[in-house]
Amino acid sequence: MDFPTACPACHREVRVEFTDSAVHDLSCSQCGSRFCVFVRKHKFEVLFDLGTRALMDGYAREAVASFAASLERFFEFYVRAYALERQAGTEGGFGAALKAWEGTWRHVSSQSERQMGMMALAYLLREGREPDFLTPKALGVDFRNRVIHRGYLPRREEVDAYAARVFALIDRLLVELGEGAVHAELAQEQAFAAHLAALPEGVTAVFEEHPGMFRARRFGGTLGGKRALPGKTAPPLNDAQAFARALTERGPLLATFRKSGER
Ligand SMILES: [Zn+2]
Repeated sequence: MDFPTACPACHREVRVEFTDSAVHDLSCSQCGSRFCVFVRKHKFEVLFDLGTRALMDGYAREAVASFAASLERFFEFYVRAYALERQAGTEGGFGAALKAWEGTWRHVSSQSERQMGMMALAYLLREGREPDFLTPKALGVDFRNRVIHRGYLPRREEVDAYAARVFALIDRLLVELGEGAVHAELAQEQAFAAHLAALPEGVTAVFEEHPGMFRARRFGGTLGGKRALPGKTAPPLNDAQAFARALTERGPLLATFRKSGER
């Protein structure tokens, strides 16, 4: 997936391939200046947006893999946020908490079953409830496996339903996480700061925020536009409606963003 950015010296538009680290060391092909673009976005968001773009472009089957990966990375995001939240303010501070987290995650990073175990416990400890969403049915495991591992060609409506389910689950957990998500944000900022400190002289740092399907939630807005008035409860949206509405509201932003380089 790539995104458009502008050279800070000559303003020429540059297409950049999104990196795994969200840090992009670049040099302008026109004026030669060097710059570094930091994108404030998490892996689960990038993957979900990638899936949404694939879906909008008619690549429904390909979208499934991105949505499935997005959910797995979201669980990692949740566990990280919770672990850092718990350790915030303890001796050694954020740096020590982050180091302990990284060392711990290494034990589970190559096995998604282990990560699910971490997610189950993190949710139980944080919310005091059973993680009701971890059943194969709720996660759409059978559908995902058929598509990814057995070459099943899904109908568009099946992929829409799967996307809606993943979207609703991530959205719900983001709401529950609330301010807790800040700790995971901070971890990304720390990684950026370390890279920034090591940049050679003469390299311009550029920080970017991009549109995305979960952006409104992360910046304290509400999905579906207006906040409900006090005392008036908005009729609840089902999963399909919530996803369809987010797609209507934010899908065009993703599309505009992608197309700005094609002008
Ligand atoms: Zn330039």
